[in-house]
Formats: sequence, structure tokens, C-alpha cells
Amino acid sequence: MARTADVEARSALFEGRDYRRYSFWLETAGEDLTPRRALDGAERADVVILGAGFTGLWTAYYLLKNDPSLRVVVLEGEVAGFGASGRNGAWCGSGFPVTPGELARRFGREAARGLITEMHSTVDEVGRVAEAEGIDAQYVRGGMLRVARGPNQLPAVRAAHEAYRALGLGDDYRVLGAEETDRRVRITGTRGALYSPHYATVHPGRLVRGLARVVERLGGTIFERSPVVRYETGGSPRLTTAHGEVRAGTIVLAGEAYLTRFRKLRRQVLPFYSLIVLTEPLSEAQWEEIGWEGRECVASNRYTVDYLSRTADGRILFGGRGAPYRYGSRVKDEYDRHAPTHEMLRRAAMRWFPALGDARFTHAWGGPLAVPRDWMPTMSYDPTSGVATARGYTGQGVATANLSGRTLADLILGRDTAISRLPTANHRSRSWEPEPLRWLGVRYVQRGLKRVDDRAERTGEPPTGRSLAERLGAH
Ligand SMILES: Cc1cc2nc3c(=O)[nH]c(=O)nc-3n(C[C@H](O)[C@H](O)[C@H](O)COP(=O)(O)OP(=O)(O)OC[C@H]3O[C@@H](n4cnc5c(N)ncnc54)[C@H](O)[C@@H]3O)c2cc1C
Repeated sequence: MARTADVEARSALFEGRDYRRYSFWLETAGEDLTPRRALDGAERADVVILGAGFTGLWTAYYLLKNDPSLRVVVLEGEVAGFGASGRNGAWCGSGFPVTPGELARRFGREAARGLITEMHSTVDEVGRVAEAEGIDAQYVRGGMLRVARGPNQLPAVRAAHEAYRALGLGDDYRVLGAEETDRRVRITGTRGALYSPHYATVHPGRLVRGLARVVERLGGTIFERSPVVRYETGGSPRLTTAHGEVRAGTIVLAGEAYLTRFRKLRRQVLPFYSLIVLTEPLSEAQWEEIGWEGRECVASNRYTVDYLSRTADGRILFGGRGAPYRYGSRVKDEYDRHAPTHEMLRRAAMRWFPALGDARFTHAWGGPLAVPRDWMPTMSYDPTSGVATARGYTGQGVATANLSGRTLADLILGRDTAISRLPTANHRSRSWEPEPLRWLGVRYVQRGLKRVDDRAERTGEPPTGRSLAERLGAH
């Protein structure tokens, strides 16, 4: 029996727009982002993919690499890289939304260890493919520093290290003292950091747009400005747009936060807005004061999440998650910008780096990411319905989407491999609560997390108990 699902808010996907203004990365992707041709008419394929972000494109890439005879079609509502893939904080890291201790509790020690070590390899795999395929992704494997800003954040650094050590991964994560951290990057109030080498920075715009070209070179077809308004599963799987349809043996739903626009998927993930500000290129004197020659990914241990990177042209990117959740899981262009949150991020950047002085902030943007109810991404394929999907990265999807692509390719091609047996493969998360409960609960937790952070900073005392974030994710 075929089942159908309609997309509700499609008008936003049809308007003419200058895609370069959605992020610094799209602006500097090295092309004018003129859309490829749109789907017009009926097509057939072996696999048709909704979404040309990292998930959709890596899936197309590995399918075609494994079987060049496949006919793979990608339908993108805007242009390749329009979503989070073209707007993120540039971290291509092994970080995973569920903590190592929680992974071990849910899936067992060996499975947790297997997943984390696979994430380490995934970071290398992104760099390897970029190099092999000639994608100018500005990939720099500088590692990651999760700094303790203040004594209240030191216990979190030690606890994280202990959790990795318990899985036999203590050598992949080191606790650095204040001086050693300072030698890498000088941030006010630093008391130490957790360091891991398994992180790189990339130019996400160049990576995602380059990947799209590679998929075409391998024989894939990408239609842009082709929003899918309906999908059908079962006997005759297909994706339908306003002007055409593609029937295929398998459909892949790779729309991350935007999937909530389909009524049937509305409660599968929660769209959350992450926002970013960017400075102008800093002077040599400013960089001398700050250091950061290694270009590590940098974050603190706040529950309300901050993430920083240093761009190839010498700017500081400062991102964070303060923007409010929107009732009904709505995703709209106008939510990409939230003046109070952007101002909060600018002020935080100045506090972290007094050397910024009166440096200008030239860019501010944002975008939606997707949070599943148990914070566990899924990479799944159901041969009966002909539907594959990978989603729910909770803001840690740049590298993870590569694992998704490899996993979905293996599952669709029926290959029994180590990654097709990881806990991410065919994982099912339960749905989020219906509204208004969802809005009340999420806003309550958002405010709670901020209160916990503010209190810890005021008192210098670490928060106690299990993290609220994990309590939110608990079943
Ligand atoms: C501001 C921000 C900062 C982030 N920072 C980081 C970071 O530093 N490191 C990290 O690892 N992760 C980060 N993330 C998360 C990461 O960017 C995402 O997890 C990852 O890019 C998701 O890739 P995706 O392809 O699954 O989804 P997306 O990149 O969102 O792609 C989905 C695509 O599907 C298309 N689409 C949606 N609906 C339809 C439809 N109906 N028809 C056709 N096409 C459709 C969209 O236009 C879009 O192009 C960040 C996210 C944001 C928003």
C-alpha cells in the first residue's frame, strides 16, 4: 500500500533569492550560485534523494562510487548547500551528540567505542575525499579544544576525559593545563581544556558545492529549485515536485530540520536555530596576542553551547545556540537572524578576546539544525517501504553526514559492513511531544540551561547532577 505525505509550508521555497547572503560560506564559495535546472516532467531513477546538503550528497557520492551504473537523482528545493551544510561553524569533528558515557549506557561499551572510533576515521575520510576529488575545502586538521572558562567548567573537562578513558580512548583525548591551553590560544579566564586531535576545520560552502560537482561528474543528476511537496513509499516510491516526479526503487529523505515541514515527520526532530557572528580579518598584531596558529576548533563547556573557529582569511567565527525554539517547529528564513542572540554572541566574542578591541563584525547569520528526542542520529533504510533517511545530528553533522552517506549506501546496496552494524544504523527515536507541550517543555529547558550556566559563572561552582541536556534527551 502506498502512503503519501504532503509538505505544508512550501511557499518559502519558491521565491527568487540571492543565495550568497545566507552565510559567509555561501558568499565566498567561489561561484555565483546560479541554480541548476529544475525538475520538469517525469523521471526514473534507482535512487532519488531529497536534499543536496552533506547527507544527500555524501549518500549520492558513495552510491555512485560503489556502483557507477546506478541512476541517482538529487532534488534540492533551493541550491546545493542552502541548508545547515552551507552555514555552519566549520567544525568537521568526531564529536557526537550523545556523550560517550551515555552511548555506553544505552548500547554497551564495545558499540560505543566502535562508534566513536568510526567518527575519528570519518574526519580523516572527509579530508581524504576532498583531496582525492580536488575539492578546495580548506581542510585543516587542527584538533579541538574544549576550554574550561572558569573553575566551574574544570570538572566537566575532567569528567569528559574520564568517560573516554573508560572506553579505552584516553590517548585520543588529553586534559591540558591553563598554560598549555594558553600556548595554543589565549582566551580570558581559561583554566585548562580537553584536547582531541580528531577534528578539522573546513570551508563548508566550498566543500558542499564541490561535492555537488563531484556527484555530477560521477554521473548523478542534481535538480535545484525543485522542492519536493510529496513523497510516496511502498509499492511505487517517488518524490513529487510542483512540476514533476521521480520514481525510484529507493527514496532518501535527507532534509534534516526542514523535514519537519512534512506533516508526517513533524515530531521526528526538533528544529533549533544556531546563530553565528563573524569578525573582519584581524591584524597581525591581534593574532599575535591571540595565538591560535593551530586553528583548532574551540568551544567552552557551557550547556547553552558556543563554538568557534578561525577562518583561512584570519577572521574569528563565534557561534551559539541562544535563539528561541519556535512554536509548532516552524522553520522560516526570518528566524535565521535574531538580533538579541547575535548581539549576545558579539559581546561574548569581545569578552573571550579583548584583543578584538573595536574590530568590526562583518557577518551575522544562522540556520536550523535538527534534534531527535533521544539526541541519537539515525541512518536507516527500510527495504519494504523503499525509504532511507539520515537525520538528527543536533548541530554535529558536518562529519557525521559523511558516516550517514557511507551507512545509507551500504544499507541500500545490501552490504553487511561494520558501519551498517553501528548503533546509528536503523536507529529509531521516539517522537517529540505534541504542541503546546513541546513548546512549553523546550522553552523551559532552554531557560533552565541558561540559568544553570549563568549561576555557575556567577558563583564559580560547577553545576551538579546529570546534565539537563541529557535529562531532556532521556527516554
Ligand atoms: C548555524 C549552524 C552551525 C552549525 N555548526 C556546525 C559545526 O560547526 N559542525 C558540525 O558538525 N555541525 C554543525 N552544524 C550542523 C550541520 O551543519 C548539519 O548537521 C549538517 O550540515 C546537516 O546536513 P544535511 O545535509 O543533513 O542537512 P542540510 O544541510 O540542512 O540540508 C538539507 C537540504 O534539504 C533541502 N530541502 C529541505 N526540504 C526540501 C524539500 N521539501 N525538497 C527538496 N529539498 C529540500 C534544503 O534546502 C537543504 O539544502 C551547524 C548547523 C547550523 C545551522
